Amino acid sequence: MLSSLRTIVQEVNSARSLPEVLSIIVKEVRSAMSAGVCSVYLFDQSDHHYVLMATEGLRKESIGKVRLSMRQGLVGLVAAKEEPLNLEDADQHPNFSYFEETGEAPFHSFLGVPIIHHRKVVGVLVLQQENRRRFASEEEAFVVTVCAQLSGAIAHAEATGALRQLASAGRGRSKEAVFVGIPSSPGVGIGEAVLVNKKADLSAVPERFTEHPDIEKILFHQAVDAAKRDMHDLGAGLADKLSAEEFALFEVYIRLLDDKVLVDEVIDAIDQGQVASSAWSDVILRHVRTFHKMDDAYLRERAADVRDLGQRVLGYLQAREREQRVLPRRIVLVGEELSATALADIPVNRLVGIISLKGSSNSHMAIVGRALGIPTVMGAVTLPWGELEGQELIVDGSTGDIVSRATRAVRRHYLQRQREEKQFNKDLEKLRDLPCHTADGVRFALWVNTGLRQDTAQSIQSGAEAVGLFRTEIPFLMRSSFPTEDEQVEIYREQLSGFYPRPVTMRSLDIGGDKDLPYFPIEEENPFLGWRGIRISLDHPEIFLVQIRAMLRASAETNNLRIMLPMISNMHELERALELIDRVYLELTVEEEFCIQRPLIGAMIEVPAAVYQVTEIARRVDFLSVGTNDLTQYLLAVDRNNPRVADLYHTLHPSVLRALKQIRDQASGVDCQLSICGEMAGDPLSVVLLLGMGYETFSMSASSLLKVKSMLLNISRKEAQLLARKALKMSSASDIADFLAQSLKQTSVSKLISAVSPQRRQQKNLHLIG
Ligand code: PEP
Ligand code: MG
Repeated sequence: MLSSLRTIVQEVNSARSLPEVLSIIVKEVRSAMSAGVCSVYLFDQSDHHYVLMATEGLRKESIGKVRLSMRQGLVGLVAAKEEPLNLEDADQHPNFSYFEETGEAPFHSFLGVPIIHHRKVVGVLVLQQENRRRFASEEEAFVVTVCAQLSGAIAHAEATGALRQLASAGRGRSKEAVFVGIPSSPGVGIGEAVLVNKKADLSAVPERFTEHPDIEKILFHQAVDAAKRDMHDLGAGLADKLSAEEFALFEVYIRLLDDKVLVDEVIDAIDQGQVASSAWSDVILRHVRTFHKMDDAYLRERAADVRDLGQRVLGYLQAREREQRVLPRRIVLVGEELSATALADIPVNRLVGIISLKGSSNSHMAIVGRALGIPTVMGAVTLPWGELEGQELIVDGSTGDIVSRATRAVRRHYLQRQREEKQFNKDLEKLRDLPCHTADGVRFALWVNTGLRQDTAQSIQSGAEAVGLFRTEIPFLMRSSFPTEDEQVEIYREQLSGFYPRPVTMRSLDIGGDKDLPYFPIEEENPFLGWRGIRISLDHPEIFLVQIRAMLRASAETNNLRIMLPMISNMHELERALELIDRVYLELTVEEEFCIQRPLIGAMIEVPAAVYQVTEIARRVDFLSVGTNDLTQYLLAVDRNNPRVADLYHTLHPSVLRALKQIRDQASGVDCQLSICGEMAGDPLSVVLLLGMGYETFSMSASSLLKVKSMLLNISRKEAQLLARKALKMSSASDIADFLAQSLKQTSVSKLISAVSPQRRQQKNLHLIG
């Protein structure tokens, strides 16, 4: 059974569509269990029924027709009880329902196992047998394991739209639909969906159809020719380094691409209406599966070669698709796992909404969405994104709702919301030039976080007194190779002179985690606990030294640079980084005679280890800045990028608040500037607590700045201190959030409470997410 399980998992992983996944499952499980019937019923969200989606053993015509309401039949019972049901005499059970179209009369024994994803029953797998017997406990355990594996594939299929396509086959397309994700940047955006595919990933290509098969065939042949040319050039380039046997492999690859059977299969699929990329992915994955199943080990390994070749051709097909795409005037960017890299391919001034199926409200894409002030929804795992290209979508970044095919009334409602938001922001604008003093006259400073070229103008106009965090990795993410020193000087000079005379805090490269450079991929089991931030910079001094040189050179005329080091987790890292910075500074000023002021150097406090060494760190640097995004994820052991645990990620968690208090108290003992630059600083409610703990400098997205200002102008430090004292004694994040909302409702800024703070709404929405 173990080997059957391995085969099933392998095959399911290489399947591209839900029907394929299901047909593999029912076939393989029936054979592994020597059962008469294996069927899968899936939950159709549109009408809350369990629908027969695949079967081996029942009549195929009944697929899509047998539909059971939520508690109907044995299937409904398994789903309702969320546990396996193993019966010898199923036909005697009071819940038994008979469906004539399935032809299931002679079956007596029944094993039903729920398929559960994220605590939600998404379907039921059923085995049936003619003779009267209970399935053995090992058999039951095997099916439970298969179902656990299947649940992920179903969630993925739901996300790519396959489930709805299958469920709605023959029933006409549904009308308005609302999908729920994690609210990540407030506001309403209405525009046309533009899909961003994960590049050259065969399994992630959505199934799409065309009315112009001839054009698709031409594209296909061109892509194959280009891949053949690559193989030929690669082979020729390596000819003197390879053995004759290895060299012959390139010929094999070229022959494979010439293979008539393979080419004909793709042409057939295109003739049946699929676009070239979709047809190619289907065919290649089918061949990959065939190789995987072979008994001969050598042939089995060829599966990887076929997949590699497939990806190469797919790369060309996708590049052509991108070139030919006519972008709409108002773009809603939709992708499975969006990162800032996706912005490189579109005109950002046309962007009105961002939707990512993966990621959470503190993923870097969400931060970029907030920086640009674009309504953003992350973790929209149930969105049928594969079928949305070109459709109008409404993105509500405040609630996490995404509406497709909106009725006129709903559209009108959202347009009204847009008008109200515009007015709200216009009112906030009036605060822009007011001095930053709390109601009792305490001075506070509002700084801005930047990264994208496009958010610079907005940041300059926001009235911020400084840049508290320039994420230098973002310009790196938008390119196809490392920028040269001179190119970096240009990028940094633009920032420094744009904000001059205000100080600009440039953070050294913080890649790793969810910020992977396309040209420097890092594959790790645990990327957030792995090679990240300063660790990479110290392991690659050639990258770090060039970056620091570029920053210093760029600052020669303006002298408003501050350098900040991310992810410091021990004193050795800090000392080594300071040593390298000193070295570059001396080289430039003494050997090369540049006239540059020594910049202030600071460290981020964003790793729990640093919290306990604030005093030592503070003695070695000019300033500290607290990164609450990472500090929260590391303190709570909650991946900031994972929608599954998004409801556990809470910056108001008592442990986070107590750590922040401890940082403030330790820093007060040393003469060291302290600011806070995580997203928490941009949340008008949380910022009250921060003020109450003694923080006075807050760095945030430009789009949050006036909301925070509005809050701080209206509250006195005394009130904030009282709230912080009380909150620090509470024992749960939700109690603290409720207490804050309740207390601040009395102030004149109550409107802000409903207009902001995606995190609090996130909790409300999570039960709706797959
Ligand atoms: C943080 O971790 O809070 C932070 C500001 O840095 P980033 O979000 O870029 O990791
Ligand atoms: Mg960080």
